[in-house]
Amino acid sequence: MNSPDSWHEEIFLSEMTAKVADALAEGIDASALAQTVAACAATAADFCAGRPFACAPGCPHCCVLNVAVLLPEAMTIALWLRERLSGAELTGLQKRLAAHRSWARWMDDDERILKQMSCPLLDSFGGCSVHPVRPLACHAITSLDSQCCREALMPAVTDEERLVPADLLRKAVFDAAFTALASGLRLTGLDDRSIELGTGVLAFLEHPELQESFLAGGRFPRDLWL
Ligand code: SF4
Repeated sequence: MNSPDSWHEEIFLSEMTAKVADALAEGIDASALAQTVAACAATAADFCAGRPFACAPGCPHCCVLNVAVLLPEAMTIALWLRERLSGAELTGLQKRLAAHRSWARWMDDDERILKQMSCPLLDSFGGCSVHPVRPLACHAITSLDSQCCREALMPAVTDEERLVPADLLRKAVFDAAFTALASGLRLTGLDDRSIELGTGVLAFLEHPELQESFLAGGRFPRDLWL
């Protein structure tokens, strides 16, 4: 198991950025871009292999927090959903994503916790419906104590500090993977901005043409961030 002593952020960042830039340099299609995103997550997961965490299916307490994704992450999730869901299921999901967006778009984490604004990608069993392609930010947040999570994320107004023991090394590694992916995008002239998870996924589901535009170096419409 890797320890904090074996973590060299600068090296990890420069190696992963170079790999992303190489993969993107020759021109890339949506499926190859999804593989590049998956490779970033897999490299970070390999580094964290064997490190403990208490997270498990059916424990969705942290899935009320804001999640920022890079556009290729949102595109990958949208692609994955489009390949698996029926037309009716996709229509229902798009409605849930749109409703969540209009309710939660200006909320900070405290307000989301108070109103229990669960991620629209959470399934009815408390599991992540896109677990194999979940965002790097979701990989980054793991708890070492599920009871602490439950208490910290209960909808209550309090001045008390509610702390959750977490694996900070895992967070640092996945945050670095996110930064490296963004740097690789920037180096190859692709849009490197992040966006709220549901907003980004909904945009790619509602407007499939954004995929080609993104891959050709186009910029996403600014009003998605307003
Ligand atoms: S994408 Fe999955 S893991 Fe991330 S917040 Fe949503 S349900 Fe939770």
